[in-house]
Amino acid sequence: MDYSVKEYWQNYVNGKWVDGGDGGRITVMNPATAQSLAQVAKATPSDINTAVEAARAVVKSRALIAMNPIDRGRMVVRMGQLLRERKEEIARLVSIDAGKPISEAMGEVEGSAKYFEYYGGAAATIEGRYIPLGDGVSDYVVPVPMGVVAHIIPWNYPNNMIARSLAPALAAGNANVIKTPELDPLSGFVFAELAEEVGFPPGAVNILAGLGNEAGAALAEHDDIDLIVFTGSVPTGQSIMRAAVANVVPTVLELGGKSAALVFEDANIDSVVENVKAGIFENSGQVCDSMNRMVVQDKIYEDVVEAVKEMAESLSMGPGLEDYDITPLVSETQLDRVAMYAGVGEQQGARLVTGGRKAGREGYFHQPTIFADVTADMRINQEEIFGPVLSILKASDAAHAVGLANSTKYGLAAGVFTADMDRAMWCSERLEAGQIHVNEWGVGGTQTPFGGFKQSGIGREKGYESLLSYYQSKNVGIVFKN
Ligand code: NAD
Repeated sequence: MDYSVKEYWQNYVNGKWVDGGDGGRITVMNPATAQSLAQVAKATPSDINTAVEAARAVVKSRALIAMNPIDRGRMVVRMGQLLRERKEEIARLVSIDAGKPISEAMGEVEGSAKYFEYYGGAAATIEGRYIPLGDGVSDYVVPVPMGVVAHIIPWNYPNNMIARSLAPALAAGNANVIKTPELDPLSGFVFAELAEEVGFPPGAVNILAGLGNEAGAALAEHDDIDLIVFTGSVPTGQSIMRAAVANVVPTVLELGGKSAALVFEDANIDSVVENVKAGIFENSGQVCDSMNRMVVQDKIYEDVVEAVKEMAESLSMGPGLEDYDITPLVSETQLDRVAMYAGVGEQQGARLVTGGRKAGREGYFHQPTIFADVTADMRINQEEIFGPVLSILKASDAAHAVGLANSTKYGLAAGVFTADMDRAMWCSERLEAGQIHVNEWGVGGTQTPFGGFKQSGIGREKGYESLLSYYQSKNVGIVFKN
């Protein structure tokens, strides 16, 4: 298979491709072979500082804010169109670098393009307002960009997660410093090329690969940024918040999940099984809003367990580029973590229905794994695994099912599968999650706000709500003779 990619990738700072300040490099691994794939420049804290200074210079120049939002929006839309033109090339890179199926990588890049198209179009719809304060006073509120936005990106959708925050941030007129994920940074550099091609000035988009506790921490702690947008795990989100406190910087945090689908006796089981396949096995379960858990009504419990087992055992396994169902996890660390949780599930008394082991082949593959008879207190019910592991719990009725779904510290997504719309609505009102999917897992898209209740996050990405978080309001009051 042709895994060839450029051997060495530089960072993009102030409109130039540069090495890491101390000449350091990160070796990027190919998850399907466990062999080295490429090297990227490793950003130092000093490189991060240079990027923030370049972004600040753009803010001070007023180059972006001075534009009519229609014109700025058109540039953002154009970035989406250019990305679309390069979709196959970039998707191939995502698939090799992250290990995911090429068809899913194509969907990822398609989704990235949509963010630029949507937010570019929406930029000019943001308006201020006039506040009447009586004769002789003119008062208006104007939305202005936040300024310098720091983006810290996870590895599970290395291209799409950049697009999700960069598109609205640029559309709103902010300058940006992006810290890409160290495990699979390659496909993120394309946004530097696109920004340059459509004419954004040097410093408006800076993209650096670097380690979390070094470059990531330096960015989060920087005292000259105006907003941090972070997607990643809860512990890192907490350290980002602590860093932000020191400089009184607002944060948008998109964190982990432990999402549950409730399945009732009148659900269409074939459809449920199809949804489970996509819900927990897409990207081998490395999705923040994966269907990590099912809560199944007792009357159909064993039938559902059997149907889901059959589906899981029919899945194919192999490298992402060949588009298998189950592809490698992103790293050896992630593989070990998933295998550890499979062991914990068995030790704590859950019934291992299928899988449960590393696949025992070249690359970071883990078997699709299903546990039944999982109870609320078990770690595989409570903790995010981030792999192809499904936990199935049993409930007697809707109230019991909702209670089990809500029994974790997370609140990202939840689903209800039933033919009874009264029951679906009753559950939707009570489920503690930012996204509720009825009869299809993952309903929503570019235009629908996405984010978490409880420890799954703060703020929203996607949709119009997200665009608003890239502005702050300025009130101007004028007193005049009349
Ligand atoms: P992570 O928290 O380990 O890393 C995320 C990013 O933060 C990486 O770029 C990393 O280098 C950086 N980082 C690490 N330590 C840092 C520090 N001390 N200071 C600043 N930056 C630091 O997460 P991950 O393993 O890359 O991604 C998986 C997690 O992301 C899962 O928990 C998943 O649920 C979550 N996620 C959430 C969403 C969402 O929209 N809610 C989407 C995708 C992923």
